[in-house]
Amino acid sequence: MGELLADHTTLRLGGPADRFLTHTDPAAWPDLAHAARGSDTAPFVLGGGSNTLAADTGYPGTVIRMATRGISVRSLGGDLVEVTAQAGEPLDSLVAFTVAQGLSGIEYLGGIPGTTGAAPVQNTGAYGQQISDTLTRLTAYDWDLSRTHALFPGECGFGYRTSTFKTQPGRFTILDVSLRLARRTCASPIRYQHLADALSARLGARPPLAEAAQAVLTDRRNRGLSLPASGPDARQAGSVFLNPPITPAQATAIRAAGGPVHNSPDGPLRASAGWLLEQTGFLPGTQVGLGVYCSRDRALTLTVYDDATAATFTTALEALAHSVLTTHRIRLQPEPVQPHRRSLSPRRHPPSG
Ligand SMILES: Cc1cc2nc3c(=O)[nH]c(=O)nc-3n(C[C@H](O)[C@H](O)[C@H](O)COP(=O)(O)OP(=O)(O)OC[C@H]3O[C@@H](n4cnc5c(N)ncnc54)[C@H](O)[C@@H]3O)c2cc1C
Repeated sequence: MGELLADHTTLRLGGPADRFLTHTDPAAWPDLAHAARGSDTAPFVLGGGSNTLAADTGYPGTVIRMATRGISVRSLGGDLVEVTAQAGEPLDSLVAFTVAQGLSGIEYLGGIPGTTGAAPVQNTGAYGQQISDTLTRLTAYDWDLSRTHALFPGECGFGYRTSTFKTQPGRFTILDVSLRLARRTCASPIRYQHLADALSARLGARPPLAEAAQAVLTDRRNRGLSLPASGPDARQAGSVFLNPPITPAQATAIRAAGGPVHNSPDGPLRASAGWLLEQTGFLPGTQVGLGVYCSRDRALTLTVYDDATAATFTTALEALAHSVLTTHRIRLQPEPVQPHRRSLSPRRHPPSG
């Protein structure tokens, strides 16, 4: 039997991959890409598996796990530097490295599981910071064109938890990511009230960099936003739904019911998916399906137990979404990604690395 995807995802669900390759050496990418290319399909690329729901039947093709490590720093003049991380570098390690170096720009992204290479895919973010805020460039292999090239922010289609890499799944494999950070002793302005409270600061204040980064890790642990190594909430993929866009009328109704409405300058009003779930009766700890429960701290995280399968997890997601749709007329979109095969056009196979 092939390598089990359950051994490479934080939900620990998923059957075998037909073929499983691990990418560890940046210089060996051209050979690996050549070996991984199916006759008519691109491989599925896995980072830390913390946002992936793999099928019980496994994956009928090649999976590449990105395990390249390494961080380099280049001065851009003045207080600015460009930090480049290999795709397999854990995002949390990159954040810790930058904070230790006195570099500000991603200090609120600490404690998020997964790899740096996956962060641009869903434009990973937390506490009002997202990877696109500081991304200057990334290197990606384009399976359609069979070539490696740089992509700049304007080409990445970044939005709230989305990007070109998410809307064209499987087309690009991100090999490294570069960020522009500033050498500063203070953090970016605080945008979240509970973080401000934890730091005894006001919204908009700039706390000392290391203190802000530490407060994020503590706040994540306290609110069930960390991935425990063991225990009842250890098998999970974080939030299972995105915060959904809502109309102004829906926002008014939610505010009247005491619920939060997120108002971002560059997007629609959004409701809190977790608040909507709780309103429909799914409180922390509620069983949602066979072996699938809302985590002990938050309704929006589903945790799984031994009798769960990817199928029961999917059924649980559908039950939650259906409940919110019928109660609030708001459609929830799942956040974890289900691996799927990307077909390659036979016309586009020039040999290259
Ligand atoms: C406890 C917990 C807390 C979380 N908190 C947050 C949070 O605060 N904010 C947030 O945004 N997310 C959060 N997440 C979700 C997840 O951690 C992030 O989305 C993370 O960036 C996923 O990284 P990964 O390496 O595990 O991705 P994977 O699950 O391995 O992959 C996710 C997707 O990215 C693609 N992918 C992975 N690597 C590459 C690559 N190198 N090139 C191209 N495509 C690639 C995969 O094909 C897949 O489509 C949380 C998850 C957990 C379990």
